[in-house]
This record gives sequence, structure tokens and C-alpha cells, in this order.
Amino acid sequence: MRDEDLQPILETVRRLCAEFPGGYWRARDRERTYPTEFVQALTKAGLLGVLIPETYGGSGLGLSAAAAILEEIHASGCNAAAVHAQMYTMGTVLRHGSEAQKSQWLPKIATGEVRLQAFGVTEPGAGTDTTAITTTATRTGDTYLINGQKVWISRAEHSDLMVLLARTTPREETAKKTEGLSVFLLDMREAVGRGLTIKPIRTMFNHATTELFFDDLEIPASSLIGEEGKGFRYILDGMNAERILIAAECIGDGRWFVDKARDYATSRVVFGRPIGQNQGVQFPIARAYAQVRAARLMTYEAAARYEAGEPAGEEANMAKLLASEASWAAADMCIQTHGGFGFAEEYDVERKFRETRLYQVAPISTNLILAYLAEHVLGLPRSY
Ligand SMILES: Cc1cc2nc3c(=O)[nH]c(=O)nc-3n(C[C@H](O)[C@H](O)[C@H](O)COP(=O)(O)OP(=O)(O)OC[C@H]3O[C@@H](n4cnc5c(N)ncnc54)[C@H](O)[C@@H]3O)c2cc1C
Repeated sequence: MRDEDLQPILETVRRLCAEFPGGYWRARDRERTYPTEFVQALTKAGLLGVLIPETYGGSGLGLSAAAAILEEIHASGCNAAAVHAQMYTMGTVLRHGSEAQKSQWLPKIATGEVRLQAFGVTEPGAGTDTTAITTTATRTGDTYLINGQKVWISRAEHSDLMVLLARTTPREETAKKTEGLSVFLLDMREAVGRGLTIKPIRTMFNHATTELFFDDLEIPASSLIGEEGKGFRYILDGMNAERILIAAECIGDGRWFVDKARDYATSRVVFGRPIGQNQGVQFPIARAYAQVRAARLMTYEAAARYEAGEPAGEEANMAKLLASEASWAAADMCIQTHGGFGFAEEYDVERKFRETRLYQVAPISTNLILAYLAEHVLGLPRSY
């Protein structure tokens, strides 16, 4: 999508975000409550359905439009973590879901009647080694029986559907460890209390993340997405989208930190002059700006490749690496520029600082990206 065509959408995002100023997010952060009103406003404006094809009630746009929306939400001082999963799981449903699944769910997701905001991959025993997950889905007639445990599954309490990864064939019975994993579109409304238990985890910022316990949860066999045993491939594709979208959020955060620091450095007077007149203060702001701009180029290159159906693993990983480091550097610079006030809640800097730290760990940590680049792109010997 051309930049000028995106502008009206981004203008809508900015107008909407202006109705959710710092005070709104501070209160949610203090109480650790889900930003329901914000989610409803985004849904009503049609912003969460941009990736859903028009035939199913969405706007049928590509990943770069979704990335631009998330970037703008973050640049406006808001946080898209409450809603972004719908965008990064959409590719799995669109590319691999059956016609029946798409016509059953997508129109309802587009109107907001149903939320697809949970993505269930990580497990306590497997960590980053996704193929080592032990949650099982066992087929019996027209149903699958799910048993196991997941951790860090965000928004599970605020979602109706979850894209779930489980083992359908034991790892030792498959030729490759990436085989035998399957993806399900699980209706959580039917599952909670019938074999699915959700336990919230309190974290250093407001993220509505949880642990999930599956104890003989019976789900219809029609919940399976695509072919049984091929789920890892489907999920990998979704993970590239996730990395690009998260990178866009980092860019938004980075822009917010740079703007906030520039404004403060211009207005705060010490020793009879604005602190931003000192090169020791202005250079870190300029450096952060350059880092954010550079990471942005990689992010939208990755989005363009993904949208064109070209391999985008290398670019998606580099975008997430560079953008998460740029937003963190900008956050650190912003605290320093604000001096003591960087630590005061009412400036929002300390909250955004805590929020943006996540991206170097989730959805994939920096080391694992470097290992991917070193071993899969540069051909260095494999370390694991
Ligand atoms: C707030 C939050 C929300 C999340 N939301 C979701 C969600 O909605 N759905 C979901 O499925 N998951 C979610 N996650 C999980 C997230 O994707 C993982 O935390 C992340 O992938 C890292 O996995 P881990 O925590 O198990 O770390 P581990 O795999 O235990 O790794 C710990 C550290 O060791 C390093 N490390 C491990 N192995 C190697 C190696 N071979 N070489 C070099 N370094 C290595 C890692 O880089 C990392 O720094 C969330 C996590 C958080 C904190």
C-alpha cells in the first residue's frame, strides 16, 4: 500500500489514540486491568480487521498497513499489546484454515463479536525450543483430547479464540523434530472450566499474560487448522508476521521516546539555558532518532517481502532485532534526558521504558535471532 493511501488510516489512529491519553494507561498499569475501552474503539473503527479479506468483512489490506497501524498506536503513547495477536495469527488462519473455518469465524472477528487474541505456543519445559513442547492433542473419533501446560499466553482471559500449537505425534516417532505438531483454532468459551484453567501472571508491566492448564480438554476435530502434523510450518510463517508487527511497535515506541525527549530538552531550563542546547544532551537524542529511522527501513522491507509472498525470515528477524534495540536505546536516552522526572509516573516515560524492554525477550529473544542469522543466513556451524 502506498504511503499516501495509508495517511487517512493513520489519521484515524491518531485521532482515536488522542482519546486515550497517558492518564488512561497509567490507571490500567496501576490496576493491571485490560484496556477494554481502547480495544472496543479500535474494533469499532475497523482497525483490527485490516488483514481480514473484504469478502469476510475486513478491509483486505496487507501486513505493511497492519504494521503502520501498530507503529502509530505506539508512537501516540498507547500500547497495542492488548490487540496485536489478532493480526499476527491472521496469516495462519487465512493461509491454512478451511473455507468453513474462515466463514464461521472471520466475519465475527471483523465485527468484534468474537476476539482472536490468544496465541498458545510457549511451554515451561520447552522455552524457546518450540519443537520440544509436550502439550498433546490426541484424536479420538470426531474429537481431540488436549493435555498439557502453556506459559506466557497473553490475553487468554480476554479472548474468545486461541491459535494453539500441540503435539499430535510424539517427537520420537517422527523423522524430524519439526513434524508431528499441529495447530488448532480453539473456542475458549467452550473450554474454560471443561478442562482448561487460566491462571494470570503478574508482570513488571500491564500485559494480561497467563498460564494455561489443559486437563483432558475435549475439542471438536474440526478445530484442526490445515493438515495434522504440519503445524510447525504454519506457525513459523505466523512468527515472521509477528516479528515484523512487533518491530513496528518498537519503531512507534522509539518515535515516542525521541519526541518526548526532544520536547523536554527544549523546554527544561537549567544553568540558564535549555538542557537540549548542550551537545551532551542533544547527541543521544539525535543518535536514537537515527537508530529508529534505520530500523524502520528494515521493518517495512520485511513487511513488503512478506506481503509479496517472498521468503522474509531473514528480514523479519533483523527488523525485530534492530527495532527492539533501537526502542530500548531510545527509552534509556529518554529517561536520562528527563533526569529525575524520568522516574515520575506522571511523565509516562518510566511506564513506556518498562513496556518496551519486553521486545528483546518476546516473542523471540535477541540471542535466538543472532543464532538464526549466524547459522541459517551466514552458514556458520550450528550451536543447537
Ligand atoms: C510478557 C510476555 C508475554 C508473552 N506472550 C506470549 C504469548 O502470547 N504466547 C506465547 O506462546 N508466548 C508468549 N511469551 C513467551 C515468549 O515468547 C518467551 O518468553 C520467549 O520466546 C523466550 O522464551 P523463554 O522465556 O522460555 O526463555 P528461554 O528459552 O528459557 O531462554 C532464556 C534465555 O536464554 C537464552 N537462550 C536459550 N537458549 C539459547 C541458545 N541456544 N543460545 C543462546 N541463548 C539461548 C535466551 O535468549 C534467553 O535470553 C510471552 C513472554 C512474555 C514475557
